Amino acid sequence: MTPEILFYIIVAVIILDFLIEKVLDYLNAKHFDDPVPKELEDVYDEKEYKRSQDYKKERYRFGIITSSFSLLLILGFLFFDGFAAVNSIAESISGNSIIIALVFFGIIFFASDLLTLPFSWYSTFVIEEKYGFNKTTPKLFILDKLKGWALMIVVGGGILALIVWFYQWAGSNFWWYTWILVTVFTIFVNMFYAKLIVPLFNKQTPLPEGSLRSKIEEYAHKVGFKLDNIFVIDGSKRSTKANAYFSGFGKEKRITLYDTLINDLEEEEIVSVLAHEVGHYKKKHVIANLAAAIITTGFTLWLLSLFVGNPILSNALGVEEPSFHIGLIAFGILYSPISEITGLIMNYLSRKFEYQADNFARNTYDGEALISSLKKLSGSSLSNLTPHKAYVFVHYSHPTLLQRYKNLRGRD
Ligand SMILES: [Zn+2]
Repeated sequence: MTPEILFYIIVAVIILDFLIEKVLDYLNAKHFDDPVPKELEDVYDEKEYKRSQDYKKERYRFGIITSSFSLLLILGFLFFDGFAAVNSIAESISGNSIIIALVFFGIIFFASDLLTLPFSWYSTFVIEEKYGFNKTTPKLFILDKLKGWALMIVVGGGILALIVWFYQWAGSNFWWYTWILVTVFTIFVNMFYAKLIVPLFNKQTPLPEGSLRSKIEEYAHKVGFKLDNIFVIDGSKRSTKANAYFSGFGKEKRITLYDTLINDLEEEEIVSVLAHEVGHYKKKHVIANLAAAIITTGFTLWLLSLFVGNPILSNALGVEEPSFHIGLIAFGILYSPISEITGLIMNYLSRKFEYQADNFARNTYDGEALISSLKKLSGSSLSNLTPHKAYVFVHYSHPTLLQRYKNLRGRD
């Protein structure tokens, strides 16, 4: 194969990926106005339903604009040898390949982040604002951005530097060392996420004594779940959308409830959401997800090790002298169809897990309370009640509200 053919394969992969996404979006949008299933008629009143329709359509149009912009950006970059240009800037700064790789990815990351910044600003301060979801201030938005960048420089930069160093030192065996590094890092972050990452962005306070806490403790005791850490997070400082999640394991395990969830739901409903989260833990989903992520990472790195040294990857992007970072970029694009497939498998698995967690909540607490929480949460986030099957299959990590309703009522 010539570098030229590989170049056009890279271009084809990008365009095909875009087209598939757009077809799925289109199919989904065609069903925006379908009649609401009768089981879900009480989610919206007429006025709210109209608002949810407008919201979906506005998000859909905005999605077409942003993804088309990104497509033109990457294609323009490829056809005008952008990667080669950035590479020569990086090489003019240092002769050290770790520093070259850091500068190279630094420029690409910050340039693309700044170019797409107006879109995320518009999404937050125009669209989300219009539908009453946004609580972020411009100051908080900028602060979040800066903190995200700092985290990226320290964590992303550190890991990248180590990988390039492994590659220099161990050649194509670098993937083993990288796999171990990433695995240790993933487990560490999973374990201490709530203590290390969350405090950078949010305030977490233990759920205060009171009837909600007693109900939760009574439930936890009943199912034999040792739960010392129940925290409330100030999600309301960014958005009105509500959530709850589980993090960590062993002694570090904790359940985090958004303050918005506590405001929007009745106590029995909150306990039912919590019972669902406990279900994830009891059914070992936390460990299974972690194991799946580790296996996928190993596979990806192994595949990378087979190709990254091949000069054709660098040549296809217009760079004469092959290097690890250019090979990594080319591989990253060529790998995207495979990551689409692993993504499909992960979403399929995740939907299975959601049913299991729902069933756990129904069997150990109250299925009806969970149904009414799910309906309230869907309603208050103006979510789509009539998504297209293909769209659900590809993108949904959770079953649809209707599917969960039918499952909880035991007739699916
Ligand atoms: Zn879940």
